[in-house]
Amino acid sequence: MGSIREKYDTKKTVFSCEVFPPKKDKPIEPTMEKLSAFRDIAPDFLSVTYGAGGSNAGNAVEIASFIRRDVGVDVLSHITSVGFSREKLDDGLQTFRENGIENVLALRGDRPKDMTDDEYNSRDFFHASDMAEYIQKNYPDFTIAGACYPDKHFEASGYDEDIANLKKKVDSGCSFLISQLFFDNEKFYRMCDMMERLGITAPVSAGIMPITSARMLGTTVTLSGTSVPKSLSDTIAKYGENDEDMKKAGIEYAEDQVRDLLSHDVRGIHLYVMNKPEIAEMIFSEVR
Ligand code: FAD
Repeated sequence: MGSIREKYDTKKTVFSCEVFPPKKDKPIEPTMEKLSAFRDIAPDFLSVTYGAGGSNAGNAVEIASFIRRDVGVDVLSHITSVGFSREKLDDGLQTFRENGIENVLALRGDRPKDMTDDEYNSRDFFHASDMAEYIQKNYPDFTIAGACYPDKHFEASGYDEDIANLKKKVDSGCSFLISQLFFDNEKFYRMCDMMERLGITAPVSAGIMPITSARMLGTTVTLSGTSVPKSLSDTIAKYGENDEDMKKAGIEYAEDQVRDLLSHDVRGIHLYVMNKPEIAEMIFSEVR
Protein backbone atom coordinates (compact mmCIF):
# COMPACT_ATOMS: atom_id res chain seq x y z
CA MET A 1 0.00 0.00 0.00
CA GLY A 2 1.60 3.25 -1.08
CA SER A 3 0.73 6.48 -2.83
CA ILE A 4 -2.73 6.40 -4.40
CA ARG A 5 -1.51 8.93 -6.96
CA GLU A 6 0.55 6.19 -8.64
CA LYS A 7 -2.60 4.23 -9.49
CA TYR A 8 -3.57 6.98 -11.96
CA ASP A 9 -0.31 6.29 -13.82
CA THR A 10 -0.72 2.53 -13.96
CA LYS A 11 -4.48 2.04 -14.49
CA LYS A 12 -6.68 3.26 -17.32
CA THR A 13 -9.42 4.16 -14.82
CA VAL A 14 -9.17 4.32 -11.02
CA PHE A 15 -12.36 3.10 -9.29
CA SER A 16 -13.06 4.30 -5.75
CA CYS A 17 -15.87 4.91 -3.25
CA GLU A 18 -16.54 7.29 -0.37
CA VAL A 19 -17.56 5.95 3.03
CA PHE A 20 -18.17 7.63 6.38
CA PRO A 21 -17.38 6.73 9.99
CA PRO A 22 -20.08 6.57 12.66
CA LYS A 23 -20.69 9.64 14.85
CA LYS A 24 -18.37 9.76 17.85
CA ASP A 25 -20.96 8.51 20.38
CA LYS A 26 -22.02 5.55 18.21
CA PRO A 27 -20.53 2.04 18.20
CA ILE A 28 -18.03 1.42 15.44
CA GLU A 29 -18.54 -2.33 14.91
CA PRO A 30 -21.68 -2.18 12.69
CA THR A 31 -19.86 0.17 10.29
CA MET A 32 -16.84 -2.12 10.21
CA GLU A 33 -19.04 -5.11 9.48
CA LYS A 34 -20.76 -3.26 6.63
CA LEU A 35 -17.50 -2.04 5.10
CA SER A 36 -15.96 -5.54 5.19
CA ALA A 37 -17.95 -6.26 2.01
CA PHE A 38 -15.54 -4.01 0.12
CA ARG A 39 -12.93 -6.76 0.37
CA ASP A 40 -14.56 -8.67 -2.52
CA ILE A 41 -15.52 -5.54 -4.46
CA ALA A 42 -11.85 -4.47 -4.33
CA PRO A 43 -12.04 -0.79 -5.31
CA ASP A 44 -8.70 0.93 -5.95
CA PHE A 45 -9.26 2.93 -2.77
CA LEU A 46 -11.90 4.00 -0.28
CA SER A 47 -12.05 7.57 0.96
CA VAL A 48 -13.16 8.17 4.56
CA THR A 49 -14.94 11.43 5.45
CA TYR A 50 -14.06 13.69 8.37
CA GLY A 51 -16.32 16.00 10.38
CA ALA A 52 -15.49 19.71 10.07
CA GLY A 53 -13.31 20.62 13.03
CA GLY A 54 -12.48 16.97 13.65
CA SER A 55 -15.80 16.21 15.38
CA ASN A 56 -15.50 12.47 14.68
CA ALA A 57 -11.73 12.28 14.24
CA GLY A 58 -11.26 9.19 16.43
CA ASN A 59 -13.76 7.07 14.53
CA ALA A 60 -12.48 8.37 11.18
CA VAL A 61 -8.96 7.17 11.97
CA GLU A 62 -10.20 3.87 13.36
CA ILE A 63 -12.35 3.19 10.27
CA ALA A 64 -9.53 4.21 7.91
CA SER A 65 -7.03 1.91 9.58
CA PHE A 66 -9.57 -0.92 9.71
CA ILE A 67 -10.09 -0.60 5.92
CA ARG A 68 -6.37 -0.58 5.24
CA ARG A 69 -5.42 -3.32 7.66
CA ASP A 70 -8.42 -5.67 7.77
CA VAL A 71 -10.30 -5.05 4.51
CA GLY A 72 -7.07 -4.79 2.54
CA VAL A 73 -8.05 -1.73 0.50
CA ASP A 74 -6.02 1.49 0.17
CA VAL A 75 -7.40 4.48 2.06
CA LEU A 76 -7.65 8.19 1.38
CA SER A 77 -8.44 9.97 4.66
CA HIS A 78 -10.27 13.28 4.39
CA ILE A 79 -9.07 16.05 6.69
CA THR A 80 -10.79 19.42 7.15
CA SER A 81 -8.80 22.46 8.26
CA VAL A 82 -11.55 24.90 9.20
CA GLY A 83 -11.41 24.38 12.97
CA PHE A 84 -7.74 23.47 13.03
CA SER A 85 -4.75 25.29 14.45
CA ARG A 86 -1.35 24.22 13.11
CA GLU A 87 -0.81 22.18 16.29
CA LYS A 88 -4.10 20.34 15.89
CA LEU A 89 -3.31 19.58 12.26
CA ASP A 90 0.11 18.26 13.33
CA ASP A 91 -1.57 15.99 15.89
CA GLY A 92 -4.05 14.74 13.28
CA LEU A 93 -1.35 14.01 10.70
CA GLN A 94 0.85 12.34 13.31
CA THR A 95 -2.04 10.05 14.24
CA PHE A 96 -2.62 9.22 10.55
CA ARG A 97 1.06 8.40 10.15
CA GLU A 98 1.08 6.16 13.25
CA ASN A 99 -1.82 4.26 11.68
CA GLY A 100 -0.10 3.85 8.32
CA ILE A 101 -2.34 6.40 6.59
CA GLU A 102 -0.31 8.48 4.18
CA ASN A 103 -2.91 9.56 1.59
CA VAL A 104 -5.05 12.56 2.59
CA LEU A 105 -7.79 14.59 0.93
CA ALA A 106 -7.05 18.15 2.07
CA LEU A 107 -10.31 20.08 2.55
CA ARG A 108 -11.16 23.39 4.08
CA GLY A 109 -14.57 22.16 5.27
CA ASP A 110 -17.59 24.31 6.01
CA ARG A 111 -17.77 26.72 8.89
CA PRO A 112 -19.21 24.96 11.97
CA LYS A 113 -22.38 26.64 13.30
CA ASP A 114 -20.81 27.35 16.70
CA MET A 115 -17.70 29.08 15.28
CA THR A 116 -17.56 32.83 15.99
CA ASP A 117 -16.59 35.42 13.33
CA ASP A 118 -13.32 36.05 15.20
CA GLU A 119 -12.44 32.35 15.22
CA TYR A 120 -13.37 31.96 11.56
CA ASN A 121 -11.46 35.03 10.40
CA SER A 122 -8.29 34.23 12.33
CA ARG A 123 -7.99 30.55 11.39
CA ASP A 124 -4.51 29.19 10.61
CA PHE A 125 -5.45 27.78 7.20
CA PHE A 126 -7.75 29.89 5.06
CA HIS A 127 -8.11 27.51 2.16
CA ALA A 128 -7.47 23.88 1.41
CA SER A 129 -4.48 25.10 -0.62
CA ASP A 130 -2.90 26.61 2.54
CA MET A 131 -3.20 23.28 4.32
CA ALA A 132 -1.91 21.38 1.28
CA GLU A 133 1.15 23.64 1.14
CA TYR A 134 1.80 23.07 4.85
CA ILE A 135 1.45 19.29 4.53
CA GLN A 136 3.66 19.13 1.47
CA LYS A 137 6.40 21.10 3.24
CA ASN A 138 6.26 19.38 6.62
CA TYR A 139 5.04 15.87 5.75
CA PRO A 140 6.70 15.09 2.40
CA ASP A 141 5.90 11.37 2.80
CA PHE A 142 2.15 12.14 2.43
CA THR A 143 0.23 12.10 -0.86
CA ILE A 144 -2.28 14.96 -1.00
CA ALA A 145 -5.52 15.13 -2.97
CA GLY A 146 -7.98 18.02 -3.28
CA ALA A 147 -11.64 18.64 -4.11
CA CYS A 148 -13.03 20.25 -7.27
CA TYR A 149 -16.51 21.36 -8.29
CA PRO A 150 -18.10 20.74 -11.72
CA ASP A 151 -21.04 22.96 -10.68
CA LYS A 152 -18.52 25.47 -9.19
CA HIS A 153 -18.06 25.97 -5.45
CA PHE A 154 -20.95 27.97 -4.02
CA GLU A 155 -18.70 30.73 -2.62
CA ALA A 156 -16.89 31.45 -5.90
CA SER A 157 -18.31 34.34 -7.91
CA GLY A 158 -17.81 32.47 -11.19
CA TYR A 159 -16.29 29.39 -12.86
CA ASP A 160 -13.15 31.25 -13.94
CA GLU A 161 -12.42 32.30 -10.37
CA ASP A 162 -13.10 28.81 -9.02
CA ILE A 163 -10.80 27.11 -11.55
CA ALA A 164 -8.06 29.72 -10.98
CA ASN A 165 -8.30 28.84 -7.27
CA LEU A 166 -8.16 25.16 -8.19
CA LYS A 167 -4.86 25.83 -9.91
CA LYS A 168 -3.52 27.29 -6.64
CA LYS A 169 -4.65 24.11 -4.90
CA VAL A 170 -2.81 21.86 -7.33
CA ASP A 171 0.28 24.10 -7.29
CA SER A 172 0.22 23.84 -3.48
CA GLY A 173 0.64 20.08 -3.54
CA CYS A 174 -2.65 18.36 -4.42
CA SER A 175 -1.49 15.72 -6.89
CA PHE A 176 -4.93 14.41 -7.82
CA LEU A 177 -8.49 15.63 -7.48
CA ILE A 178 -11.89 14.23 -6.62
CA SER A 179 -14.93 16.04 -7.87
CA GLN A 180 -18.05 16.98 -6.00
CA LEU A 181 -20.96 14.82 -7.10
CA PHE A 182 -22.73 15.98 -10.24
CA PHE A 183 -25.68 14.77 -12.30
CA ASP A 184 -24.90 16.46 -15.59
CA ASN A 185 -21.75 15.13 -17.26
CA GLU A 186 -21.47 18.22 -19.46
CA LYS A 187 -20.62 20.23 -16.34
CA PHE A 188 -17.74 17.85 -15.61
CA TYR A 189 -16.43 18.03 -19.20
CA ARG A 190 -16.60 21.82 -19.11
CA MET A 191 -14.61 21.88 -15.86
CA CYS A 192 -11.97 19.57 -17.40
CA ASP A 193 -11.71 21.83 -20.48
CA MET A 194 -11.20 24.88 -18.28
CA MET A 195 -8.56 23.04 -16.26
CA GLU A 196 -6.74 22.06 -19.42
CA ARG A 197 -6.72 25.66 -20.62
CA LEU A 198 -5.08 26.70 -17.33
CA GLY A 199 -2.52 23.91 -17.59
CA ILE A 200 -3.89 21.85 -14.66
CA THR A 201 -2.77 18.31 -15.42
CA ALA A 202 -3.59 16.54 -12.12
CA PRO A 203 -5.86 13.52 -12.73
CA VAL A 204 -9.49 13.97 -11.67
CA SER A 205 -11.89 11.32 -10.41
CA ALA A 206 -15.51 12.04 -11.29
CA GLY A 207 -17.86 11.97 -8.27
CA ILE A 208 -21.08 10.06 -8.93
CA MET A 209 -23.87 9.58 -6.42
CA PRO A 210 -26.56 7.02 -7.21
CA ILE A 211 -29.87 8.57 -6.09
CA THR A 212 -31.92 5.74 -4.69
CA SER A 213 -34.89 7.71 -3.27
CA ALA A 214 -36.65 10.99 -3.94
CA ARG A 215 -35.90 12.17 -0.38
CA MET A 216 -32.18 11.49 -0.88
CA LEU A 217 -32.07 13.86 -3.84
CA GLY A 218 -33.46 16.75 -1.75
CA THR A 219 -30.86 16.27 1.00
CA THR A 220 -28.04 15.84 -1.50
CA VAL A 221 -28.86 18.99 -3.43
CA THR A 222 -29.12 21.02 -0.22
CA LEU A 223 -25.76 19.76 1.04
CA SER A 224 -23.79 19.90 -2.20
CA GLY A 225 -25.43 22.70 -4.17
CA THR A 226 -25.35 20.47 -7.24
CA SER A 227 -27.78 21.27 -10.05
CA VAL A 228 -30.42 18.74 -11.12
CA PRO A 229 -30.89 18.27 -14.89
CA LYS A 230 -34.34 17.66 -16.35
CA SER A 231 -33.55 14.03 -17.13
CA LEU A 232 -33.03 13.33 -13.41
CA SER A 233 -36.04 15.33 -12.19
CA ASP A 234 -38.13 13.46 -14.80
CA THR A 235 -36.81 10.16 -13.40
CA ILE A 236 -37.81 11.21 -9.87
CA ALA A 237 -41.24 12.36 -11.07
CA LYS A 238 -41.80 9.03 -12.79
CA TYR A 239 -40.47 6.60 -10.16
CA GLY A 240 -40.20 8.63 -6.91
CA GLU A 241 -43.38 7.19 -5.39
CA ASN A 242 -42.22 3.58 -5.63
CA ASP A 243 -39.12 2.72 -3.58
CA GLU A 244 -38.00 -0.30 -5.58
CA ASP A 245 -38.54 1.32 -8.99
CA MET A 246 -36.83 4.52 -7.81
CA LYS A 247 -33.79 2.62 -6.57
CA LYS A 248 -33.47 0.76 -9.86
CA ALA A 249 -33.93 3.94 -11.93
CA GLY A 250 -31.43 5.87 -9.75
CA ILE A 251 -28.79 3.19 -10.15
CA GLU A 252 -29.37 3.05 -13.91
CA TYR A 253 -29.02 6.85 -14.10
CA ALA A 254 -25.65 6.59 -12.31
CA GLU A 255 -24.54 3.72 -14.57
CA ASP A 256 -25.39 5.76 -17.66
CA GLN A 257 -23.36 8.67 -16.30
CA VAL A 258 -20.41 6.35 -15.63
CA ARG A 259 -20.56 4.72 -19.09
CA ASP A 260 -20.55 8.12 -20.74
CA LEU A 261 -17.61 9.27 -18.56
CA LEU A 262 -15.65 6.12 -19.41
CA SER A 263 -16.27 6.71 -23.10
CA HIS A 264 -14.68 10.15 -22.57
CA ASP A 265 -11.59 8.51 -20.96
CA VAL A 266 -12.18 9.90 -17.48
CA ARG A 267 -9.22 9.13 -15.18
CA GLY A 268 -11.29 7.92 -12.22
CA ILE A 269 -14.80 7.14 -10.99
CA HIS A 270 -15.53 7.94 -7.35
CA LEU A 271 -18.87 6.57 -6.14
CA TYR A 272 -20.61 8.31 -3.26
CA VAL A 273 -22.32 5.16 -2.03
CA MET A 274 -22.93 6.19 1.59
CA ASN A 275 -21.69 2.96 3.22
CA LYS A 276 -23.71 0.78 0.87
CA PRO A 277 -21.20 -1.60 -0.71
CA GLU A 278 -24.04 -3.48 -2.37
CA ILE A 279 -24.75 -0.41 -4.55
CA ALA A 280 -21.06 -0.11 -5.46
CA GLU A 281 -21.06 -3.80 -6.37
CA MET A 282 -24.09 -3.38 -8.65
CA ILE A 283 -22.58 -0.43 -10.50
CA PHE A 284 -19.00 -1.70 -10.72
CA SER A 285 -20.16 -5.10 -11.98
CA GLU A 286 -21.94 -3.33 -14.86
CA VAL A 287 -19.26 -0.81 -15.83
CA ARG A 288 -15.81 -2.07 -14.78
P1 FAD B 1 -11.32 25.44 -0.72
O1 FAD B 1 -10.48 24.76 -1.71
O2 FAD B 1 -10.63 26.28 0.31
O3 FAD B 1 -12.38 26.32 -1.55
C1 FAD B 1 -13.40 27.05 -0.88
C2 FAD B 1 -13.68 28.34 -1.67
O4 FAD B 1 -12.53 29.19 -1.64
C3 FAD B 1 -14.00 28.12 -3.16
O5 FAD B 1 -14.99 29.04 -3.53
C4 FAD B 1 -12.67 28.41 -3.86
O6 FAD B 1 -12.88 28.94 -5.18
C5 FAD B 1 -12.02 29.44 -2.95
N1 FAD B 1 -10.56 29.24 -2.88
C6 FAD B 1 -9.89 28.06 -2.83
N2 FAD B 1 -8.56 28.28 -2.72
C7 FAD B 1 -8.39 29.63 -2.70
C8 FAD B 1 -7.23 30.45 -2.58
N3 FAD B 1 -6.00 29.94 -2.46
N4 FAD B 1 -7.42 31.81 -2.58
C9 FAD B 1 -8.66 32.34 -2.68
N5 FAD B 1 -9.79 31.60 -2.80
C10 FAD B 1 -9.65 30.25 -2.80
N6 FAD B 1 -16.59 18.35 4.08
C11 FAD B 1 -16.39 17.84 5.34
O7 FAD B 1 -16.67 18.51 6.34
N7 FAD B 1 -15.86 16.58 5.51
C12 FAD B 1 -15.51 15.80 4.45
O8 FAD B 1 -15.04 14.67 4.65
C13 FAD B 1 -15.73 16.30 3.13
N8 FAD B 1 -15.39 15.57 2.03
C14 FAD B 1 -15.51 16.11 0.78
C15 FAD B 1 -15.06 15.38 -0.32
C16 FAD B 1 -15.15 15.89 -1.62
C17 FAD B 1 -14.63 15.08 -2.79
C18 FAD B 1 -15.74 17.18 -1.81
C19 FAD B 1 -15.88 17.75 -3.20
C20 FAD B 1 -16.19 17.93 -0.72
C21 FAD B 1 -16.07 17.41 0.59
N9 FAD B 1 -16.47 18.14 1.72
C22 FAD B 1 -16.28 17.62 2.99
C23 FAD B 1 -17.11 19.46 1.56
C24 FAD B 1 -16.08 20.62 1.60
O9 FAD B 1 -15.49 20.71 2.87
C25 FAD B 1 -16.82 21.91 1.23
O10 FAD B 1 -17.23 21.86 -0.10
C26 FAD B 1 -16.12 23.23 1.55
O11 FAD B 1 -17.08 24.28 1.41
C27 FAD B 1 -14.96 23.58 0.63
O12 FAD B 1 -13.87 22.79 0.85
P2 FAD B 1 -12.61 22.91 -0.16
O13 FAD B 1 -11.55 22.08 0.39
O14 FAD B 1 -13.02 22.69 -1.55
O15 FAD B 1 -12.26 24.46 0.06
